[in-house]
Amino acid sequence: MSHVFARHSKTPMRRASTGKGVYLYDAEGKKYFDGSGGAAVSCLGHGDPDVIAAIQAQVAQLAYAHTSFFTSDPAEELADRLVNEAPGDLDKVYFVSGGSEAIEAALKLARQYFVEIGQSERRHFIARRQSYHGNTLGALATGGNVWRKQAFAPIMVETSLISPCYAYRGQQEGESAFDYGQRVANELETEVLRLGPETVIGFVAEPVVGATLGAVPPVEGYFKRVREICDQYGLLLILDEVMCGMGRTGSLFAHEQEGITADIVTIAKGLGAGYQPIGAMMCTAGIHQAIADGSGFFQHGHTYIGHPTACAAGNAVVKKLTGGLVDRCAGMGPKLKGALQAEFGQHPHIGDIRGCGLFLGLEIVADRGTKAPFAAADGVNKKIKQTAMSNGLACYPMGGTVDGQSGDHVLLAPPFIMEDTHVDEIVSKLKKTFDEVL
Ligand code: PLP
Repeated sequence: MSHVFARHSKTPMRRASTGKGVYLYDAEGKKYFDGSGGAAVSCLGHGDPDVIAAIQAQVAQLAYAHTSFFTSDPAEELADRLVNEAPGDLDKVYFVSGGSEAIEAALKLARQYFVEIGQSERRHFIARRQSYHGNTLGALATGGNVWRKQAFAPIMVETSLISPCYAYRGQQEGESAFDYGQRVANELETEVLRLGPETVIGFVAEPVVGATLGAVPPVEGYFKRVREICDQYGLLLILDEVMCGMGRTGSLFAHEQEGITADIVTIAKGLGAGYQPIGAMMCTAGIHQAIADGSGFFQHGHTYIGHPTACAAGNAVVKKLTGGLVDRCAGMGPKLKGALQAEFGQHPHIGDIRGCGLFLGLEIVADRGTKAPFAAADGVNKKIKQTAMSNGLACYPMGGTVDGQSGDHVLLAPPFIMEDTHVDEIVSKLKKTFDEVL
């Protein structure tokens, strides 16, 4: 009997044994195409010799030094790299060990910033329904995914939630995509005015929504309007790129494609590419300076922040991403999306095929015409996950809550190193899975 506390105690877990390129192998030797890179983590695939060498060299030289005593070469180098590549004024990088920690750091920094500049009445965050920002209590409170948070609601702060930008279900008959985006962005202004602008800290959103909706990009103009509203009322724009960042959507930072700048950005997953647990919170020079000029101390921290070995892995990963892999992802994405559209574009149970780069989603519906989802009790996403695993494909099906209804989607986020032949492999394994389940 296993003593590992598995999250899914009713489903026995396969034991992963080896990773090589785009494949994972379990202890029985069964091979799986890593179609979702775990949860959009393994952008480089498995067994990358350069990342392994960078980790080994760093462990041998200096595995760890606590950040209340020291910074380190790999942390400095990685911060330089990220700042040089980041759009806008992002200038400081606070390293953590994962996505939820990055969000917690962002929320606390945003609040402390306003306290330091004498606006301590600012205490509300606004985020979006059908969003996920992590599983720690602050991050969970900021997300809108109902089933993940309902058991913990009594012990969390309340966050204001507005509509996501989710054209497949939100755009109305006769409404242009642009007008739809403006309409849902304007919900931010309505909520700011309802709360009182002087009480709002900021707006938190994923540029491309990952886990809860399945790779949903914004419509054109949506984030520009959001940025305008933030500027008008003095809110910080906090973009969560934990899942969609690090090249996944075809640019190193997903929000580059929206033509906007952010005040705070969180990244994780692809930053360590699965080789080390690492995340980061990036902020503008202005936010950092306010604290430097004030108390001089960010009231936050963890034992493993700025971990040298994790940062060494991050350097090796980002070097590869900016050295051609992000471009490869941008080129491979349309090939995979095109093949999915060709195979499933008219499928009676696939309502929408969406996403950008190698961050793609398929929404599964009971009825294509009405977009009615399957009932939650059907457990369609769970069946797809299990069947896909039997068919040698690890993908990321989820059930979401779509404004009170239940919906299912499959998220694909394969490694950027995938080849053209893998497009066929993914599509045929998915087809077999859908034929068996739907
Ligand atoms: N933010 C987003 C957008 C995520 O998708 C996730 C995880 O899926 C998180 C935050 C939390 O990251 P972690 O699981 O590394 O804590």
